[in-house]
Amino acid sequence: MTSTSERRDPGAVAPILSDRIARMDVVHLALPVRHARDHGSGTVAQAVEVVVVRLETDGGVVGFGEASPWVVFTGTAEATFAALDRYYRPIVVGARPSDIEALMAACRRAVVGHPEAQAALEMALYDLLGRASGLPVWALLGGRCRDRIPLSVSLADPDFAADLRLVETIREAGVGIVKLKTGVREHRFDLDRLERLRRDHPDLDIRVDYNQGLEPFDALRRLRDIDAFGVTFIEQPVPARHFAAMASYRTALDTPLLADESVFGPADMIRAISEGICDGVSVKIMKSGGMARGKAIAAIAGAGGLVGYGGDMFETGIAHLAGTHMIAATPEIDLGCEFYQARWYLEHDVLAEPFPIVDGHVVVPTAPGLGIAVDEALLGRFALRRSSGE
Ligand SMILES: [Mg+2]
Repeated sequence: MTSTSERRDPGAVAPILSDRIARMDVVHLALPVRHARDHGSGTVAQAVEVVVVRLETDGGVVGFGEASPWVVFTGTAEATFAALDRYYRPIVVGARPSDIEALMAACRRAVVGHPEAQAALEMALYDLLGRASGLPVWALLGGRCRDRIPLSVSLADPDFAADLRLVETIREAGVGIVKLKTGVREHRFDLDRLERLRRDHPDLDIRVDYNQGLEPFDALRRLRDIDAFGVTFIEQPVPARHFAAMASYRTALDTPLLADESVFGPADMIRAISEGICDGVSVKIMKSGGMARGKAIAAIAGAGGLVGYGGDMFETGIAHLAGTHMIAATPEIDLGCEFYQARWYLEHDVLAEPFPIVDGHVVVPTAPGLGIAVDEALLGRFALRRSSGE
């Protein structure tokens, strides 16, 4: 039972509402990875670069966010760093951290583009507000509709034997979904890998992602071959701008088609539905510019009869956690998530505890804010540059 003295005054204003952001640190990191990866639109070799934001209020409450740009997809870490450090900083420092929507609108007006920088700032604001209020971020986003999210691991190693070993490892961890990255080498290589995966792991849920790797000329013949394997979906076979080609494949194939690079923001989602290019959409906070706009995209998708998938970029556990909270609070994102890099791709994640994967699922944290602390010593160890200040 709660004693009278423990009850809060219902008319009292939470202290965080009068706090101001007193300090903003921006850190550009290069994090070593375990192996090379080939994707239709580019490769990753030694390291991934991310930009971490740390906010602190005059009351001493801290929040962390992460931008995970990829040069061939959303942009460069250098430009992201500049957006945050030079252009967002004067808007953010001195502002009330609870005015999230107004701050995000001001940042979108101040700098064109840079959805990853927007995502990092929004994440840090929600983390801060969650820690101050004692609530997990999913509660601030509207409440939880799932406790755990099925995890998919992407297969993109140029050495397929290594990928087969990875599949053994992840299956032991209970993972039941893989996404094969295709369209990088010859078509036969893609079919051979699918045949092998189907033969060795008949119960595996297999998805295919071209990362824009095909040109519309001759794409359909290849996609029909993939169609025959009955995979769960085929993601973004052709470059983002080819809406008409995407719509034609959707009509020609039995396999559901997923849009990724074709849909960044809510306006893209409206166009994708009106032109009938896909059956589902990969929702990524690095494309949408944060969790709230990711939820907006998912709501539009749901209204159009589409389903969402929790995509990501080359992220650390910080951005993975933000994606996890968004999906926890978004009923339309029902195809699982791909937040595996912190566990199986980076040499070192920047969270103080392992990213929460149990029995092939990401477990939604219930601690305040994003739910897991950041290892600030690791930020210093892998920093390429940093900017601190008020
Ligand atoms: Mg993709």
